[in-house]
Amino acid sequence: MSGAERRCLVAGNWKMNGLLEDAMAYVAELGENPAPEHVEVAIMPPFTLLHPMSGPLSEKGVRLGAQSVYFEQKGAFTGSISPLMLRDAGCHYVILGHSERRDIIHEDNALIRKKMLAAWQAGLEPILCIGEHLEEREAGKTNDVLREQLAILEGVAENKPLTVAYEPVWAIGTGRTATPEQVVETHAFVHEELARLGCDCRVLYGGSVKPDNAEALLACPGVEGALVGGASLQADSFMRIIEAAARAAG
Ligand code: PEP
Repeated sequence: MSGAERRCLVAGNWKMNGLLEDAMAYVAELGENPAPEHVEVAIMPPFTLLHPMSGPLSEKGVRLGAQSVYFEQKGAFTGSISPLMLRDAGCHYVILGHSERRDIIHEDNALIRKKMLAAWQAGLEPILCIGEHLEEREAGKTNDVLREQLAILEGVAENKPLTVAYEPVWAIGTGRTATPEQVVETHAFVHEELARLGCDCRVLYGGSVKPDNAEALLACPGVEGALVGGASLQADSFMRIIEAAARAAG
C-alpha cells in the first residue's frame, strides 16, 4: 500500500498507567464511533487491561496494542508475555523499541529484532520506535542513529505488517516537540531509508503530541499519524488529537 492510500494512525501509549474502573470509564467516554473515516485509532494499555478492553474497544472500531513483548511464544520465561498471548488477548499492534525500554531496561537493537520476528510469527504488527537523544541531534548524528535502529529491518521486513514511529527522545514526555522543519526533514530521511530496505510502511511522529500542536505536526509531509503518550491518558484530549488527525488527513 502506498502513502497516498494509507489511513493515518493515532495510537495512545498509556505506559504504566490505568486501572480497570478508569479504563472502562475512558472507553465509554470515547463515544460510539471515535475513529473518523480517514483515521485509524489504537490504544496500548498495560498488559492487565488488554483482555477487558479488547471487546469494548473492538465494538467501537478501535484497535488494541501492547507496549512490549518477549521473543518466545511460550515456556519458562517467568514474568514475560508472549506474542501469542497478545494475539489471544485481541492485540493487533505491539510497540517495540520504545526509548523508555531502550534506556531504562537496556533493550538493544539485537533484542528488538528478535522481538519483531516473534511478533510477526504470531501475526502482530510491530510499531517500531526509533529516535535520537538530544546530544546525538546536537552532534549532527541523528541520521546515523536512525539508520542503525532501522538496520534491524534489513532482509526481513519486505511485505511484513509494520509501522515505524519516529520519536526524538528529547521530545518524549518533556513538552518539547520537534519543529515542523525537523519533523519534515527527519521523516523524509526515514522514508528514504525504509525504501532502501524494501519497506513501504507508515511512519508516525511521537513526542509531546498534544491537542494544540497535533494538527500542525500531522499535516507535515511524511507524517502518517501520531504515537501519543501523556495526552492519550484522558479520553477528551485523545479525542481532540484524533479530530486534529482527521482535519490534517482531509
Ligand atoms: C510516547 O510514549 O511514545 C510518547 C510520545 O509520550 P509523550 O506523548 O508523553 O511525549
